[in-house]
Amino acid sequence: MAQDLADPGRAPTAGGAGAGESRIRLLPAEGRTPLNGRMPTPRALRWRSDRESEGEQRAVSVFFAPRAYVRVCAHAGSDLDNEVGGALVGRWRADSTTGRQYVVVEAAIRAQHTRHGSAFLTFTTESLVALHDEMERRYPTKELVGWYHTHPRMGVFLSGYDVWLHQHFFPEPWQVALVIEPYTRLGGFFIREVDGRLNPHRYVGFYELVPRGSSSLVYWQNLEPELKVEQVEGGMQS
Ligand SMILES: [Zn+2]
Repeated sequence: MAQDLADPGRAPTAGGAGAGESRIRLLPAEGRTPLNGRMPTPRALRWRSDRESEGEQRAVSVFFAPRAYVRVCAHAGSDLDNEVGGALVGRWRADSTTGRQYVVVEAAIRAQHTRHGSAFLTFTTESLVALHDEMERRYPTKELVGWYHTHPRMGVFLSGYDVWLHQHFFPEPWQVALVIEPYTRLGGFFIREVDGRLNPHRYVGFYELVPRGSSSLVYWQNLEPELKVEQVEGGMQS
């Protein structure tokens, strides 16, 4: 059963997967709407990448809880030669005031039984089944909000195979992909635009949830913290 879902060497095709492949979607969730919530921006620090521009409207904003961030980074740093990855678990909500959708990454599940090489990571059938089981057992009320994987010494982008995998196994507009370069400490999210497009080179930052009395944990070199208005007014203007 350790059969790959796709040959990583094969170029993705516009027609998509065959019938056998599309059966293995983790959460077939067509036509669903998110629960209402309140976007936790007041207790979050926004990290911005230089690849994002003001005009782009993403389908969701991403909030990252500190425990999940640490767990993902620890996994990413555990192998500087091969790609590792897993699932991002959390909440999917719409802000009750603005209607804007967001996800909160609250936990991460390391994928087992992956096949990896220096340039790709493949979720096998076994790894997808194991992820699905762990979701049901440990996080029955949470959503699979996306996935993460590393690109040691390769930079932050989605390869053709990554895009294929994202579109087939994380097809919801609000499901996101995180790529981490553990060697040079880079990271970024790939989030669909509201019209569904996904640019494999334009990664974006996220909102880091910073508990009261704690400080930021984010150390990725390619992201800049965005100062809040009160911080700018209080500290930078004379
Ligand atoms: Zn990749």
